[in-house]
Amino acid sequence: MCGIVGIVDAGGVSIQLYYAMYALQHRGQESAGISTFDGTTLYKFKGQGLVADVFSPAVLEDLKGNAGIGHVRYPTTGFNLPENIQPLNFQFKEHSFSLAHNGNLVNTKELRSEYEQSGQIFTTTTDTEIVARILIDEISESGSVEDAVHMCMRRLQGSYSVVMMIDGVLYAFRDPLGIKPFCIGKTEQGYMVASESVAVDALDGTFLRDIKPGELVRIDNAGIRCTQIAVAGTYAHCIFEYIYFSRADSVIDGVLVYDVRRTIGGKLYDEDPVAADAVSPVPDSGVAYAIGYARHSGIPYAESLMKNRYMGRTFIMPSQKQRERAVRIKLNPIPAHLVDKSIVLVDDSIVRGTTSKRIIDMMREAGAREVHVRIGSPQIKAPCYLGVDMPTRQELIASDKVEEEVRRSITATSLHHVSLEALIEAIGCGREHLCTGCLTGCYPLPIEGEQGKTPQIDFVAGTYQANLGSFETES
Ligand code: AMP
Repeated sequence: MCGIVGIVDAGGVSIQLYYAMYALQHRGQESAGISTFDGTTLYKFKGQGLVADVFSPAVLEDLKGNAGIGHVRYPTTGFNLPENIQPLNFQFKEHSFSLAHNGNLVNTKELRSEYEQSGQIFTTTTDTEIVARILIDEISESGSVEDAVHMCMRRLQGSYSVVMMIDGVLYAFRDPLGIKPFCIGKTEQGYMVASESVAVDALDGTFLRDIKPGELVRIDNAGIRCTQIAVAGTYAHCIFEYIYFSRADSVIDGVLVYDVRRTIGGKLYDEDPVAADAVSPVPDSGVAYAIGYARHSGIPYAESLMKNRYMGRTFIMPSQKQRERAVRIKLNPIPAHLVDKSIVLVDDSIVRGTTSKRIIDMMREAGAREVHVRIGSPQIKAPCYLGVDMPTRQELIASDKVEEEVRRSITATSLHHVSLEALIEAIGCGREHLCTGCLTGCYPLPIEGEQGKTPQIDFVAGTYQANLGSFETES
């Protein structure tokens, strides 16, 4: 759960990176960083907190140059240490190298101990440094970035969308299974890559296409070039991006997330209809689903919870009582919309179950007669090892409970989760192209102690250095 962006633009990049990262803020609120290059010098700035808190106008002015990369971080691997904030920056053989990564590797331990045994040291606890190490070693040896990315795709297991800058040339690549989203856009005087298309929109750019799984994109002042390094038999796009993580206005792998969620809302009604007075979302994550439900069922859409938009996700309170009050500050019920009413309450997912329970309690206290909970994902059964911050099985309320047990635990009048089939149909790319690990416990690659498949990946050996995929604007 991180957001990455890279831009080469003749008009300068720091402000554009800042706005793109602002658009990706939902992907990580822990820390933010930018590196830029002006032809001779690598400029860098990073800090803990939200994009708007980390960067001031003066700081942005100092980040000079026409090429740069940025990162917003939500830690999955590595603790919340200042040295783990990305981009990671290195100097080697007079090259300036900067790298940012979205995703999570599952063979970090093996790779790290291999390097450590050969006497190398690490300065961070993140898996991103492993990616950087493989790239730098290979580039030092062969001088070829294509060779280095090829080596990464052979050695890294897990999810990785990576953006890097070497002496002002931008490179971006996506793992062969295409687990995390990554797209290409045109800016006013250049090109960009970003985790989600909303970052391109924020710059008034033109969305061109998604980076293909296994593809390497190179951008410099002269333009853009794309090279296919590896080809997998099937993809494994993260299903949770569609359910919760991506912004609803993003187009991910050819699909508008809002449409997926609205369609699922309709399917929730078809699968388990209920007669109610109103359909109400849990803001903001349930809104598109609830609109779909209301339209399809004909039941009026009426918000019954108001969200305070000024409360960050990182609002941490030391005591249980304060935490409970914090929920009230974040979400406040509207009694006039609830008293003696039967409500369909729609949200995207139930993870630990604590939010749903508190919300239902609040709605009942405010006068709701019935609260029928409808959820836009199937039950979450297993942890994510590939980049979404999910708790362990013990903390996941549904890992060992059937739907009726969860209903009782959250005290809903009724509870229905959308079926996996309906969810996959709403996304439209086919089950074989989605990672459903958190919903099924079956992962698209081998993971210790879990059920995983070994993906079929072909390397375009021998010819991969050629410009195989000359850039086309249609995917
Ligand atoms: P809970 O069941 O209390 O764990 O909260 C579930 C709610 O948190 C869902 O309705 C989502 O909107 C949101 N959510 C789901 N997954 C995540 C995640 N990985 N990190 C933060 N919030 C999440």
